[in-house]
Amino acid sequence: MPNPTRAFAPRAPRASGIREILDLVLTSPVEIDRLEIGEPGFAAPAHVAAAAAVAARGDVRYTQSSGTLALRTALVDSLALRYGAEIDPGCVVVSQGGSQGIAAVFEALVLPGDEVLLPDPAWPNYEAMTRIRGAEPVRYPLRPEAGFVPDPEEVLALIGPKTRIVVLNSPGNPTGAVLPRAVVRRIVEGAAERGVMVVSDEVYDEIIFEGEPSGAHEFGDNVVSVFSFSKTYAMTGWRVGYLVMPAWLATIVGHVQEALISCVSSVNQAAALAALTGPQDAVATMRAAYRDRRDLALSLLSEADIRPRRPSGAFYLMVPLAPGVSSRDAALELVGRGVSFAPGSAFGSVASDQLRMSLASSPETIRRGLGRFLDWYTESQ
Ligand code: PLP
Repeated sequence: MPNPTRAFAPRAPRASGIREILDLVLTSPVEIDRLEIGEPGFAAPAHVAAAAAVAARGDVRYTQSSGTLALRTALVDSLALRYGAEIDPGCVVVSQGGSQGIAAVFEALVLPGDEVLLPDPAWPNYEAMTRIRGAEPVRYPLRPEAGFVPDPEEVLALIGPKTRIVVLNSPGNPTGAVLPRAVVRRIVEGAAERGVMVVSDEVYDEIIFEGEPSGAHEFGDNVVSVFSFSKTYAMTGWRVGYLVMPAWLATIVGHVQEALISCVSSVNQAAALAALTGPQDAVATMRAAYRDRRDLALSLLSEADIRPRRPSGAFYLMVPLAPGVSSRDAALELVGRGVSFAPGSAFGSVASDQLRMSLASSPETIRRGLGRFLDWYTESQ
């Protein structure tokens, strides 16, 4: 039956430009070196699944909407270790990954007709979430020549009467840029002066090679910091993330969680607790592996004199194409050559002449995939 009301149609999110490539990859008759992927290839630590198995035998009831007190208390302890910050468990809300956490905050703060300031390039979900709320995304540029770091004054100048939220993301997807703390601070303080909240997406905070985590919550009480177990512990499918925010907002977002999801799965919260309180060596091992893969990719690309911005965190690298080449066309063509990238155009317009490659793929895949890319690149010069 066709949509009888059409009421939602203008707000319905479109498929992202990564999906177009993924659909081709999944139906390809030949094997593809997958460099478009945005999730760790590592297995989650074994004690995580063990804790979930124990929880599944008894710990299977609704929890508090904001997350179990045991998990939120452990999160507060972990934040104190990582940031030296004393945070009340009442300021923490557990969510179904960082994604659903951000969506719950948008639900609490954004009304139709509002504006949300987003980076360009950025993870496509921010724009979709903004549109679902009936609000307008307004993009601020992350220019490659500035190391994908925004100019704080340019960001603040875009704040108008309809702006509700400025989204920051460090380390960034797709750029891998780690924002200097001074930049984060200036934006948080400038937004506070204008009565605007900052949603600081820090889901890659444990994957930093050079530089420091944003720690945006230290700079003002107008901040929601977003964290996740997905990338830190290679737990993407477990869907556990968490938010740190002022108590007044945590109460509202807790109510939003109650209305939308009741709570995050009790079993998965137990798994997350085990990840947080168990041995942490896997985190450092994965970080070192991503850094080695970054260095490998940079060295392979330099052989063809391709010199991308060196990412300082996350597990992505933006590969510049020849001027004027469309990243979408290039990504589509490259699937035919046996290697897949995410086109820069999927993340906005500023990086539409770049391809995002994932460092979450294995070194063998990176080596072979970049070999295929370099053959194509050289032929098309
Ligand atoms: N934020 C950014 C920048 C991401 O790249 C992702 C996932 O790719 C997320 C948030 C959401 O991750 P999750 O919902 O698995 O925590």
